[in-house]
Amino acid sequence: MSPSLSPGRAKAPNGRIAYVNGRYIPHARASVHIEDRGYQFADAVYEACEVRDGAIIDLTRHLDRLDRSLAALRISRPMSRPALVFIVREVVRRNLVHDGSVYLQVGRGVARRDHPFPSAPVAPSIVITAKHTDRATSERLASAGIGVITLADNRWGRVDIKTVGLLANVLAKQAAREAGAREAWFVDAGGFVTEGGSSNAWIVTADGKLVTRPDSAAILSGITRRGVFDVAKVAGLTVELRPFTVAEAKAAREAFVTSATSIVLPVVAIDGNPVGNGHPGSIALELRLRFHDVAEATLVVN
Ligand code: PMP
Repeated sequence: MSPSLSPGRAKAPNGRIAYVNGRYIPHARASVHIEDRGYQFADAVYEACEVRDGAIIDLTRHLDRLDRSLAALRISRPMSRPALVFIVREVVRRNLVHDGSVYLQVGRGVARRDHPFPSAPVAPSIVITAKHTDRATSERLASAGIGVITLADNRWGRVDIKTVGLLANVLAKQAAREAGAREAWFVDAGGFVTEGGSSNAWIVTADGKLVTRPDSAAILSGITRRGVFDVAKVAGLTVELRPFTVAEAKAAREAFVTSATSIVLPVVAIDGNPVGNGHPGSIALELRLRFHDVAEATLVVN
């Protein structure tokens, strides 16, 4: 009998399963080679998609972005699109994830340590994992709203490529945690917010316009950000693509962040200063509510 996806089931009966370089392996025993270039040089890219109600959200856009990241680094695609879709769904299915996320990482592969690309072609490495998250906990977080801190953007110049080189993001998010906040907003040399440690940054102006930074090498072009453009269109909201300063954000009517694992999260404080009335904004909550009406959903089990 094939395992079914039920909302109450948090765990696969035989424990978590990971897909590693062609095999489904018990999560606890899953590993990669010590000379995997992803491990040694962060020479790898990744995607993380939301799983909701037994469906993978915006999988096509995530896999399109994966292709762009791979092309930017000249890493070859590990397999065809249909094969990849099959395995991503299979990992979610085998882990009985009804609500949660699926993570995939593709690296240049294993080779004797040397900075330039391996001269003899090597097969790209691929790892896929899935995990369960509790919807009620996410909803509680959204109804409370989150605090963000701001700090100087000290990342490399190509953060539009979704690489696993996330040390600056790790340190920023740890600084946020130590300050009692949930997210850190990076700020460029001109005083403009680039994006969050693991999310895109938005504000809502006094007249109800959504503002987020335009695509460039300074931000990751978020799939959820794209989805919010779609929702805004349906809802008749105007999106202004321009950078905003920390001062403008602090004085904004609302602020929020977007990411595949958090969808839309209202920001209620920036560096300890309340945004608006200090409660989640109604536009952010509306966008969150309507997001899945518009997003693509790929069922894991047909
Ligand atoms: N920026 C950064 C740095 C991120 O890590 C993420 C999350 N992957 C995002 C933005 C949001 O992107 P997405 O909506 O595709 O999750």
